[in-house]
Amino acid sequence: MSPADFYIDRVAQWLASSRSAVVLTGAGISTESGIPDFRSPGGVWSKYRTVYFDEFLASADGRYEYWRQKCEMHREFGPAQPNEGHQVLARWEAAGRIRGVITQNIDGLHQMAGSRRVLELHGTARQAACLDCSARYDIEPLIAQFLADDRVPDCPACGGRLKHATISFGQMLPPDVLMEATRWSRDADLMLAIGSSLVVTPAADLPRITRERGGRFVIINRDPTPLDEIADATIPGSIGETLTSLHAELTT
Ligand code: NAD
Ligand code: ZN
Repeated sequence: MSPADFYIDRVAQWLASSRSAVVLTGAGISTESGIPDFRSPGGVWSKYRTVYFDEFLASADGRYEYWRQKCEMHREFGPAQPNEGHQVLARWEAAGRIRGVITQNIDGLHQMAGSRRVLELHGTARQAACLDCSARYDIEPLIAQFLADDRVPDCPACGGRLKHATISFGQMLPPDVLMEATRWSRDADLMLAIGSSLVVTPAADLPRITRERGGRFVIINRDPTPLDEIADATIPGSIGETLTSLHAELTT
């Protein structure tokens, strides 16, 4: 048995006996769907200057630049489909093996794969939200409108400022989502962190909460992370393959 197989075997046993397992995902679970993660060279995420939340609020030029970048990025992840990794997690939730997924991702692929209990720490790029009246809209028609008119769309309800329903740098995380994620992490007897570099807080703090309460903590990620030292097991292979192997192990 190779070391990787050994860990698959063990983690499958932990998952099978867990009563309140929780999964935390990052950009790495979506790279096999063709969406580059944060660190990929050339990924659109690294190509543009950051429009901070304050600038978005204060300046029409900032809002234009923000929408221009988001439309570019949308070309990349608009057509992306969930991969085997997302699908396995949706099956585990349906089978009651995990409570749900806490994600740093904004791509909506967990929901597309069938996951229902998804806590989006950084919001979603599938919708826009009005900063003035809180109305929400599907993103697709607004992107089409921006590209057609070359101007930032206004909120159809109140004429206010529309922004992707994602959390910008300098913007507060939704407190209700964060509170729920903290509760799940506290209650968890097992947390699997999948495809996250575990450097962005508060997501990176959640596994610590699980560990402090005596829960197990497993990392599935190609590169090492700062939390490897507190993990009960780390599996460095491809996420799609690892989750497929774990699933096979659980169902045999
Ligand atoms: P990150 O880019 O910092 O780290 C991703 C990790 O996944 C890396 O450590 C890498 O080794 C690993 N990885 C990538 N592909 C893998 C694969 N196929 N198999 C195994 N491991 C793989 O991502 P992060 O920690 O989520 O932080 C990035 C931030 O940027 C997040 O806050 C997120 O909101 C945002 N972001 C989101 C998306 C998305 O929604 N898909 C994409 C890029 C960035
Ligand atoms: Zn509005």
